[in-house]
Amino acid sequence: MIRRWLGFFVCFVVCGAAGWSVAGREGVAWGFLLGAALWQLIGSFYARRLLNWLRSEQSNETPVLMSGAPPRLPGVWGEVADRVRRLLKNRHQQYKDSQARLDEFLAALQASPNGVVLLDGVGRIEWCNQTAAQHFGFDAQRDLLQHIANLVREPAFSDYMAAANFSHDVVIAGNFSTSARPIKLSVHVHRYGKDRKLLLSRDITALEQAEAMRRDFVANVSHEIRTPLTVVSGFIETLQTLPLKKADRDRYLALMALQSQRMQTLVEDLLTLSRLEGSPLPGASEWHATRTLFAQCEQEARALSSVLAPQGPQLVFEAGPLCEIAGSYNEIRSALSNLVTNAVRYTPENGLISVSWIVLADGHGEFRVKDTGPGIAPEHLLRLTERFYRIDRSRSRETGGTGLGLAIVKHVAQRHGAELQIKSQLGQGSCFSIIFPAARVRVLQPV
Ligand code: ADP
Repeated sequence: MIRRWLGFFVCFVVCGAAGWSVAGREGVAWGFLLGAALWQLIGSFYARRLLNWLRSEQSNETPVLMSGAPPRLPGVWGEVADRVRRLLKNRHQQYKDSQARLDEFLAALQASPNGVVLLDGVGRIEWCNQTAAQHFGFDAQRDLLQHIANLVREPAFSDYMAAANFSHDVVIAGNFSTSARPIKLSVHVHRYGKDRKLLLSRDITALEQAEAMRRDFVANVSHEIRTPLTVVSGFIETLQTLPLKKADRDRYLALMALQSQRMQTLVEDLLTLSRLEGSPLPGASEWHATRTLFAQCEQEARALSSVLAPQGPQLVFEAGPLCEIAGSYNEIRSALSNLVTNAVRYTPENGLISVSWIVLADGHGEFRVKDTGPGIAPEHLLRLTERFYRIDRSRSRETGGTGLGLAIVKHVAQRHGAELQIKSQLGQGSCFSIIFPAARVRVLQPV
């Protein structure tokens, strides 16, 4: 401040003295007037420089950066410039901080596995993440400020938005949903702020499929158990109410035993499946002789064949080279036995069943069960390993099938890193193979 007054004083004195020297006493007044004008001019010059700099700051479109240093001005103008610079710097810092926070917030919403759409007061899209864009087929940039009702035209969604009752979600078909590959979205709107809405979308296709599978599974199990149970309870009632001859009693008891055996087999298969799903994967440290597995399966197959049809199909077992296989003995035995018993059950009396163990050139090991049975039409092949899927229900039941055999085989194969291959032609027989990876096979003595 002192410097400013000093400058003003110097300006006045110099101009006054100059006026004195030029025009004497009268000149002093003119000199003072000139000094005041000069002082004013210098002030205006500094003010303009400051103003120019402020204008350039104001026109800067990205206030994250300061466009330039303030002009170097003397005295009070310098102080004003400095204070303004500091104020601007603080403002820029605050802007940068809030921008960084917004970016982080949006990145978090972007990373959300759910779709997120922010809607303004009239339902226009203000922002949406990539997941929402995929769910609804939006373009995250192009569709900004578009009305959501114009982009999502599902009637269920339109009704939901029109009713404005957002206490629950609505399920609609997602983008690219087709009848063959349905995509289900759960959409839930939440209000926030002043009339704004947060729309969350979640892909529930897998959930719905799992729920449908669970329902089907329970219905199938109930159905499978109800049939033999009805038969057994009917016979019990007959035995309780009617005076029967011994021969009839024995016949009924034999039929009851058969039905209870069916229920037992079903429960065992269900337990096997649940064990396969719930237990840890079999390691590769336990090795088992393939010939032992073979001998056990052969015994089972021959026993079943003699029960089903004494003059049953011819059975040929080729145990191949002396080998060992790594994994769970019980699981592999159960898988192999399912394939062999299926062949016995579905092949007619004059047919041929050959079971073999082959070590392939690349070291893989193949259990192959080939039969000359009825064969399987191509449309069934992909679904055979589904639980309770049967081509001929009555034939399956007649021969004691549960519809779970191939599902068990597939599980066992997957758990051992093996592959279940099914080749078949209608009327030409079938060939079921489990191909084990080379790492689980070791040849002890080639043939
Ligand atoms: P199931 O207990 O009914 O035999 P599986 O899961 O073992 O159940 O087999 C599923 C279906 O695959 C069977 O119902 C049968 O229709 C068909 N199938 C399985 N093995 C053979 C085979 N060797 N020849 C013909 N059809 C077969």
